[in-house]
Amino acid sequence: MSILKVARIGHPVVRTPSRPVEREELASPRLQRLIDDMVETMYEYDGIGLAAPQVHVGLRLAVIEVPASDERTEAAVPLTVLVNPVFTPVGEETVLGWEGCLSVPDLRGQVPRLARLRLQALDRTGSPVDMEATGFFARVIQHECDHLDGNVYLDRMKDLRSLCFLHEFHRFVVQPEE
Ligand SMILES: [Zn+2]
Repeated sequence: MSILKVARIGHPVVRTPSRPVEREELASPRLQRLIDDMVETMYEYDGIGLAAPQVHVGLRLAVIEVPASDERTEAAVPLTVLVNPVFTPVGEETVLGWEGCLSVPDLRGQVPRLARLRLQALDRTGSPVDMEATGFFARVIQHECDHLDGNVYLDRMKDLRSLCFLHEFHRFVVQPEE
């Protein structure tokens, strides 16, 4: 496996909509290796999600894994591979929460997102995934799906005043545990 180079904002690939993954290509060793490399790259840079355009590949593909230790999540999210993901709102509730992005390094900002959604996708074997997601998992799904359309979380912020550096986020925003 290889660690892939992560594209940052400013690189056109981050702003280019991706094309769907074909079923035959999903089964190919090249695609399966890309998925493994994306997982490895996400772990290497302590990300909790990574979309293919962030590693210079214009495909509708993303990986997610949230450890329970992340202060933003209610629960750990196991490794999830999303191929051609589509989500639809379940209810109209939105929640404000903190996001960061490997393509926007060292920053965090508050982003409004749907509180609950229905996710439809394929897994890495091509089997359909159809599930509801809430909370931080729902947030990460929306963040990764945005990447597949050439969007980043900064585009979704309603108030840029919450934007802060990661260091200051941990110093002033995260409540120290008593
Ligand atoms: Zn991102």
